[in-house]
Amino acid sequence: MEKKKNLLLDIDEVFCFPGFLDAINEFLESNYVLDDFSDYYIDEAVIPQERFNEFNKFLDSRNLYENAQILPYAKEVLKELDFIYNIYPCSSCINPFNIIGSGRLFADKYNFLISTIPFIEPEHFIFTNAKYLFKADIQIDDRLSNLNENIETCILFPSYHNKTISNDELIKRGILRAGYDWRTGWLEVANILLDQSQIKDDKIKRYLKK
Ligand SMILES: [Mg+2]
Repeated sequence: MEKKKNLLLDIDEVFCFPGFLDAINEFLESNYVLDDFSDYYIDEAVIPQERFNEFNKFLDSRNLYENAQILPYAKEVLKELDFIYNIYPCSSCINPFNIIGSGRLFADKYNFLISTIPFIEPEHFIFTNAKYLFKADIQIDDRLSNLNENIETCILFPSYHNKTISNDELIKRGILRAGYDWRTGWLEVANILLDQSQIKDDKIKRYLKK
């Protein structure tokens, strides 16, 4: 039997939206939605600098993964991918503005992952800011700077902050794009990585082009 290929999977903004924006909205008493933003660091875009420390203290008491929103079809497509690939969730847990308090992010993310994707072995979890050190056959991430060009198949997952990256740039770097809309990103991932014959889930099968 052919050896399974290894897949590095980003978590935040790819598998789920953590409750970061909810925390911002609660803190500011605002009603922002993700598509209001075009820069990755949404906190820097809306929280006044003089309230940054106060906001990070506010974050300290919250579990951002308690009500994380799982992206449409993410679980269903991952379940299918798991038959064919070794999936390694690869994700940062450091809040650069709160290094000391970041330990709970590791714990909260770990607990969230084992309860939402129990079919992926916890031994595969990689919590790191040094994603570039890891080699795999496939990588999925919403940040261009995280995609490692030495990996054969790199997929840019659509997000509010990467819409303006041009197709020319991606083609030049050999990176594939899972469309422009996070709502359908996982169906595009399925189209790139799976064939009809490999799919068991009829709901996903319906969307496949090949
Ligand atoms: Mg991400």
